Amino acid sequence: MPRPVDIAIINGYVLPMGGGPEIANGVVTISNDVISAVGPADQVDIRGAKKVIDASRCAVMPGFANSHTHIASNMLLRGLLEDVHLFEWLQTMWQLKKNFDFETLYWANMCGLVEMVKSGITSFNEHFDAYRVTPQIEALKEVPLRATLGYGFADRGLYASITDYSWKTLNNFGELVSAHHNTRNGLLHIALSPHAPYSCGEEMYRLTREVADAYKVTIHTHLAEGMQEMRYMQETYGTTPVRWLAEMGFLGPDVTAAHCSQLDQTDVNLFAEHGVKIAHCPVCNAKLGSGTMPMRMVREAGVTVGLATDGPASQNTQDLFEEMKFCGLIHKDKTGDVEFMKTRELLELATCEGAKAMHRPETGRLAAGMAADVIVVDLDREHALPVYDVAAALVYSTRADDVRHSIVNGRVLMEDRVVAGVDEQEVRARFRELAHDLKKRSLG
Ligand SMILES: [Zn+2]
Repeated sequence: MPRPVDIAIINGYVLPMGGGPEIANGVVTISNDVISAVGPADQVDIRGAKKVIDASRCAVMPGFANSHTHIASNMLLRGLLEDVHLFEWLQTMWQLKKNFDFETLYWANMCGLVEMVKSGITSFNEHFDAYRVTPQIEALKEVPLRATLGYGFADRGLYASITDYSWKTLNNFGELVSAHHNTRNGLLHIALSPHAPYSCGEEMYRLTREVADAYKVTIHTHLAEGMQEMRYMQETYGTTPVRWLAEMGFLGPDVTAAHCSQLDQTDVNLFAEHGVKIAHCPVCNAKLGSGTMPMRMVREAGVTVGLATDGPASQNTQDLFEEMKFCGLIHKDKTGDVEFMKTRELLELATCEGAKAMHRPETGRLAAGMAADVIVVDLDREHALPVYDVAAALVYSTRADDVRHSIVNGRVLMEDRVVAGVDEQEVRARFRELAHDLKKRSLG
């Protein structure tokens, strides 16, 4: 007996991703929180659908998976400091971070979540910089995206001031897992996010591995992000950060490593051997002078790569359309090969591969039984027409504002660009006011 159809999306150009064939006049149906059918219009039964969405002249595809970001803290740092290298940037950011409070973080999170919904992101991997996770958990009640929230830890260097907080959180991690992990119909996951090899000692990384194994949660860390980190690890340990983590037994298939813009062949082989996933942030890496992840080497080794925006402090927008486009451009430029990173591969990185890179394989692909995370993108726009090839339009012409509808776990979060149940004007006003107050009391 087929399940009753709650939502039928009709008349669209369907890109199922995950290697699934594209359908020019396709239908996607949703029953409760899962996709029940994907197919040509004449083969999918939509009788009795409670809601029908007309996707004429639109692409219908899985929502984007943002495999590394920091909306909780970084919304408050967007545009604060430009044209500097990573470490100088981190130092200035701290002056605001130490003054964070619940209310400011709550509205920053609300604005970040609304921004992501409006740009077609339906799942994200949050790396906390050791701040309270509660404001984001509260905001996610209002804007329920699929989220993995990684508690942030650090205990040295620039981050020495949060040592106590980090150890306390790590030692009490079991309580946090039982309170939040795999809650809200599976939308919310909890993870461990040691900051980076230059800010976390060996003891902290070792304990993170033990705790991850004990609670079966995933790990999300920054790794091999720039030359300063490489020099620090060379001077302190005489090795690369990847080899350092491999030698202590930290690496595994549950690890997402963000950035990885400084990898050599041995590091890449270690990733392949241990099944480590990469969250690739090409815009942020180029902007902060951190280098370019060696995409060809990594893909030839069979390592899973997802795309990510990183936080709005360094990328400035939560927009995976921009990230796909820039990813295509920079790797063509670096390899001198225009055939490298084709449009459909870039779309896979932003959807199916991104979901795998953040350990959420239930999303990122349109197929029966997958989580119902779907976006409808308007192709009938001056900057996209005439649309000879939908993948080319999506990667190189369309932009975040072209996302018309967004569905997460079978629930319509945005319809005709209006986010359901949220006063968007209030969100912007509260965030604007609180952010400027924070800046004034932090930097004068
Ligand atoms: Zn980051």
